Amino acid sequence: MDLISAFLMQADSWYWGIWHPSFAMHIVYTLVVTQITIVAVTLYLHRYSAHRSLRLHATLKHFFRFWLWLTTGQGTKSWTAIHRKHHATTDVEGDPHSPVVFGIKAVLFTGAELYRASDTQEIRDKYGRGTPEDWVERYVYERFSFGGVASMLLINIVLFGPIGLTIWAVQMMWIPVMAAGVINGIGHYAGYRNFECKDASKNVFPWAFFIGGEELHNNHHTYPNSAKLSFKRWEFDIGWAWIMLFKYLGLAKPLSTGPIARKVLGRSVVDIDTALALMNDRFKVMANYADKVIAPNVRQEYENADKATRKVYKRALNLLRREEMLIDATARIRISQLVDTSPMLKTIYELKLQLQDVWAKRSGNGEEMLDAIKQWCLDAETSGIQALLDFSEELKSYTVPVAFAAK
Ligand SMILES: [Zn+2]
Ligand SMILES: [Zn+2]
Repeated sequence: MDLISAFLMQADSWYWGIWHPSFAMHIVYTLVVTQITIVAVTLYLHRYSAHRSLRLHATLKHFFRFWLWLTTGQGTKSWTAIHRKHHATTDVEGDPHSPVVFGIKAVLFTGAELYRASDTQEIRDKYGRGTPEDWVERYVYERFSFGGVASMLLINIVLFGPIGLTIWAVQMMWIPVMAAGVINGIGHYAGYRNFECKDASKNVFPWAFFIGGEELHNNHHTYPNSAKLSFKRWEFDIGWAWIMLFKYLGLAKPLSTGPIARKVLGRSVVDIDTALALMNDRFKVMANYADKVIAPNVRQEYENADKATRKVYKRALNLLRREEMLIDATARIRISQLVDTSPMLKTIYELKLQLQDVWAKRSGNGEEMLDAIKQWCLDAETSGIQALLDFSEELKSYTVPVAFAAK
């Protein structure tokens, strides 16, 4: 009898797994394993594999590959290829998961399916270059792509018993919901924009620690090759904090953190170095133009206007700074109303478009772009608008770091 009850007690104990942690510990475990997956996605798949913005030590790469196989079943080549295609065709026909193309609901709730639909041999061949094709990739990760997640399920059940299944389900849902749904969906739908890059990308939240820093999606689309996704002083990118930790341990080396440009106070010539630096930093230049030229003058026009006219200036800054591809028919009408009401804002808006047009002249040896910048400065200086005069001076202070200078 004693033997039977001892056996039953033992069986009951086994039923609940071998670990028997507290309820809180179950939650900590789930958070830790999902966080490791997020770090693997943002550092390894995204910043390293798709964009090559940092170097990673071979051990770390192997760990991330193994972990992603275990917790997502996601192959490096497919993810990299689909993501590179997203950058090549952002928010236009061909984008594998744009809410502008498919609608926000489809991307939020069927993000993982959209991913699978884009995972074709043709796309892998075209966009998946430079991804692992070694023995373990071919004969383990690719051949048994479900083997990893099945092993993870087994590990969880051995550790926790049936509740391991719930933890596993959370792990399996994490990336489809957080990355495929939230980043690819919300990141192109809601939030704020630091830079008017040529797509609808948004920074979802400035303190980006929840999904590995990927919340700073507008910054990322503006500077896709930067290993660091935060740009403003008040933004925080936890992925960058991980990179700094791995750098300290000798396991990672960031290769790029944004545009190659610097400002030299008092510099007042426009030469080829100015042109190159401005080109590199063009999104920030345009953001500065909005802050330093458009914003104060919109404010001034608003304050000087009578009550009836004031409504024309409402949200004027937002309209005048907006990227051209994001201006719909209604916004277009409001912009023409605005510039008809204020000759000063008309000049400022025209010079914004003219400045943007400078970047289109970047092919060749840069001479055409240089001429366009010189012309822009001349037009700004003869406009009689103080903010434009100051901005022209600011543009002249740009140059590239000494190591990149033309002479
Ligand atoms: Zn995106
Ligand atoms: Zn990217």
